[in-house]
Amino acid sequence: MRNILDLSYDEIEMLMKDLNQPKFRAGQLYDALTAYKTPDKITNIPKALIGDLTKQFNFTPLTIFKEIKSQDGTIKFLYKLSDGNLIEGVLMKYKYGNTLCVSTQVGCRMGCKFCASTLGGLIRNLTSGEILAQVLCVNAYLGGSKTNREITNIVLMGSGEPLDNYDNVVKFLRCVSDSKGIAISQRNISLSTCGLVDKIDKLKDENLQITLTISLHAPNDEIRKQTMPIANRYSIKEIMDSAKRYFNKTKRRVVFEYALIDGKNDTFECADELAKLMHGFSNHVNLIPLNEVKERGLKGTLKHRAYAFLDRLKSHNISATIRRTMGEDIEGACGQLRAKVLSSTQQ
Ligand code: SAH
Repeated sequence: MRNILDLSYDEIEMLMKDLNQPKFRAGQLYDALTAYKTPDKITNIPKALIGDLTKQFNFTPLTIFKEIKSQDGTIKFLYKLSDGNLIEGVLMKYKYGNTLCVSTQVGCRMGCKFCASTLGGLIRNLTSGEILAQVLCVNAYLGGSKTNREITNIVLMGSGEPLDNYDNVVKFLRCVSDSKGIAISQRNISLSTCGLVDKIDKLKDENLQITLTISLHAPNDEIRKQTMPIANRYSIKEIMDSAKRYFNKTKRRVVFEYALIDGKNDTFECADELAKLMHGFSNHVNLIPLNEVKERGLKGTLKHRAYAFLDRLKSHNISATIRRTMGEDIEGACGQLRAKVLSSTQQ
């Protein structure tokens, strides 16, 4: 059954028109959907109409299946989709607001060696409504509303490669920032990609104000190929050229993620090589000590060496920070919670 949240506000308006409903009905319905209400809780719309709609559409494409709270306020969510698949989300609390990390696919087919999301390959793409539902469900769950949002920022950094599910992700970006819905500012949304160059080029022409984040994780192709299979398809040179085109078109600073992996990409030579790549356009490097993935035998760089790497980058006048790790006590790397639950149910 189709999810009603897969429809944009404009499509809901057309649907109401087709059903001979008054114009204001679209607004009422979209408000109820934005509040993530189940059909029985929608009281301002005629029961008969809701009954007709529930025959055609699923109203709540996911539910919170499990939740783990960290000492620092971070919450990990495991959601269950209508077909029984599980996906993950993380809520991080900052001084300026709450950031929700959303998934775009069940699993992933990019095969990065350090990433738990990719361990079982790609199961399926999420629809735009299933991505949106993660935001609406958690916002409602935390007591937020359309005007008083509990979620202010979104990062597309959960499981999946967003640009490998391009159409659904772009539709999600438009719906989640639509003034008729939860209206989260595009400037508060980051999309993270392992670097699908043709899709980055397409994205730059979508007229979106989001922040593009590129997972680089290596200063040259040789090292990148050791952990990221996508490096066999696109060279770092091609990625950097597309990042520059993206910046020139959108004027949005591009962020590069660089997970520091012990003994692989964390030498001063690597820092120098990385710094060279960053010249010539507005960007920022986010260093993340790798969250260990035992299955892959890869370890994160120790803290003092991560800071030395940061200082080395800064000595080349590169804008860089070490990303604060959050929720360390509840789980390590992205995707691990789902992997754990799956393996425990399979035993
Ligand atoms: N597919 C997208 C988004 C998913 S992951 C991408 O590749 O960007 C979001 C970020 O977490 C990416 O930068 C990813 O490389 C990183 N990541 C994955 N596993 C990690 C780990 N074990 N430790 C640290 N960062 C990791």
